[in-house]
Amino acid sequence: VKVLLTGGSGFIAAHIVDILLQHGFDTVFTVRSDDKGKRILENHPNTPKEKLSYVIVKDVAQDGAFDEAVKSNPPFDYVLHTASPFHFNVQDPVKDFLDPAIKGTTGILKAIKAHAPTVKRVVITSSFAAIVNPKQHPKVYSEKEWNPVTWEEALDHSNVYRASKKAAWDFVENEKPNFDIATINPPLVFGPIVHYLNSLEAINTSNQRMRNLIQGQFKEQIPPTGTFLYVDVRDVALAHVRAIEVAEAGGKRFFVTAGFFSNKEIVDTVRKTHSELESKLPPKDTPSDFPSDIYEIDNSRSKEILGIKYRSFADTVADTISSLQELKLVP
Ligand code: NDP
Repeated sequence: VKVLLTGGSGFIAAHIVDILLQHGFDTVFTVRSDDKGKRILENHPNTPKEKLSYVIVKDVAQDGAFDEAVKSNPPFDYVLHTASPFHFNVQDPVKDFLDPAIKGTTGILKAIKAHAPTVKRVVITSSFAAIVNPKQHPKVYSEKEWNPVTWEEALDHSNVYRASKKAAWDFVENEKPNFDIATINPPLVFGPIVHYLNSLEAINTSNQRMRNLIQGQFKEQIPPTGTFLYVDVRDVALAHVRAIEVAEAGGKRFFVTAGFFSNKEIVDTVRKTHSELESKLPPKDTPSDFPSDIYEIDNSRSKEILGIKYRSFADTVADTISSLQELKLVP
């Protein structure tokens, strides 16, 4: 069974590669350059090239970007689409964010419809951002909720990211392709780094606070938590692979979250698991910004259908910190 995975060089995608190979899938990933592709293959020295290879897709926002990548012999059975920008240094919201996110997603769906008739399902990395309604939180967040941001609001920098994740469902409704889709909607993803990083500056957005903490940036003041929900990257990666393995996952969104957290709880956990970092941490009695009143969450669909058993916060934090230390990039 053969899978195309887009954005192979990413933080989440690197874990997906590992799980696809463990579960026996033949995997082809896309990357933006030959160098990036080779580096990933070097991480899997014992995997034969029929099992793991790459194709280059330079920019997912270009028309026809995926037309060649989706063709393959033997042909693909499934596609996992993770390639999308995830950062907050947006200069031009349309060019930097909405185009790659929306055109990238509709572009790959169009290419599959036109050139890859054997594909049965496309799993797309979406986000809690496509669920959250920050102006008016519901009592309980689950897959039933949709972020109500409009295109005009999306042009405002802070909203760009939240608006960019619904295009796939509209495509399926309007185009009625042969495949179905499923989306994985995680909140903040933490976890060990298994992809290539040449410097800690290049760390993916969601792990930046872990890097900042070990560099001592939490010592004077713990930064605001932002979204109080997290999930472990290994659970997110497994959810993607289960979403192709489990028939009833088709046509569904999956809110994959392990639960609530705050930056203060990261500090408390690190204090217990990594005592060598004590001098980098703020005082024990520093207050937490976790609100006294917060919405509830319902992640039961991901447990029941995808069989995800979420890792504990302590394991996630400890493994993330250890992984950053092992990168030997920490000054
Ligand atoms: P990374 O930044 O580590 O990975 C992003 C991937 O997308 C990289 O492979 C990157 O390639 C590729 N990419 C970005 N823009 C383009 C483009 N224009 N053309 C081609 N490839 C592109 O992020 P994550 O692994 O954290 O995120 C992956 C997905 O998960 C994204 O869709 C993101 O929105 C979503 N997500 C992530 C969350 C998190 O907390 N991490 C939370 C919720 C959703 P390159 O390496 O060459 O730059």
